[in-house]
Amino acid sequence: MLYRRRTLDLSRGALETPVLFPVRNIGKRSSDNTPEYVGTIPEFSVAMINTRSIRNREPMWNRLTDGVPLRKEMDVPEDTIVFADSGGFDFSSGDVDTTPAQTLDTQRQLDADIYGTVDLPLSRENRDAENDRRVEQSTKYALEASDLHDGDSLLIASVHGYDPQTVRNNIRYLEKNGHFDGYALGSMVPIRTDYKKVSKLILAARTATDKHLHVYGLGGLVYQPLLLYLGVDSFDSSAFIRSAGNRNYLVPGFGGEALRNVESMEYLPCPCPVCGQRCLDDIREDRTALTQHNLWALATELRRFRYVAESDRDIEEYLDLRFQGNPVTQRAYETAKQQVRRLS
Ligand SMILES: [Zn+2]
Repeated sequence: MLYRRRTLDLSRGALETPVLFPVRNIGKRSSDNTPEYVGTIPEFSVAMINTRSIRNREPMWNRLTDGVPLRKEMDVPEDTIVFADSGGFDFSSGDVDTTPAQTLDTQRQLDADIYGTVDLPLSRENRDAENDRRVEQSTKYALEASDLHDGDSLLIASVHGYDPQTVRNNIRYLEKNGHFDGYALGSMVPIRTDYKKVSKLILAARTATDKHLHVYGLGGLVYQPLLLYLGVDSFDSSAFIRSAGNRNYLVPGFGGEALRNVESMEYLPCPCPVCGQRCLDDIREDRTALTQHNLWALATELRRFRYVAESDRDIEEYLDLRFQGNPVTQRAYETAKQQVRRLS
């Protein structure tokens, strides 16, 4: 079992890992439509933001450069820990319209606690040669950022690769030639239904470094236990917002359920502060409530895993149960388990 607990020392305070960074929409739309969660879910006093979309949202960017602090703009407490990724996902199709220097400047201006380096995600449609170029370019960008970075914020190098060897070699190369506080594995979203492949890539990254390991874009309800089992320290997710938009209700231990499938119920099966006191009809009409509940569901899944680990219960036994209902994730977990056992 590779699950681990660490503490990240940040200038705003200590952050206990493993941790989920909820993705904030700030910059993506005219206003941030992420409902309040900082302060209501204690372990989520954190947020993942997109450096590029904030930089490109002119009115907001003007306010920020005029002296409005980012956390005030987001309406969150000053000690909220912010991970600013480069926004590389937007480069999947379009051209790169930034440089490592520019992105670092913006991340500094945002007073982010963790910086993700500029990267070019891979695409399933791209040819091998094009993807190789992207992997190489991302590595160059990361090293450039390493040369330019100074200060207290953590610098996390974004890493890509569609096979375990590329991921491993990349991390080793970056470790040798740059200064990074950790690594973040990207390009997982396009292949996320291939659980086996994703597990192998994560395991390659985990065994290549002992430093902090983040996985971009896979912090949903089903992936979370797998990531924790594989020793991932942090992950981010917008699944709680997307699911709510599709009227999908996340149930810890199970997965998403379309609300229309349970219409005749009076109360939902969750005791969180959102659902505990309110009937289904009420929650169905309230997208903010649904989004908040979905985030509670992600918190519950994480807390449950931690409980199993802390109470010295058998995590593999728990995961056998957890993945029982879904043959695809079950097979992926079985493969991961075999690989993990081979390591010991
Ligand atoms: Zn709930």
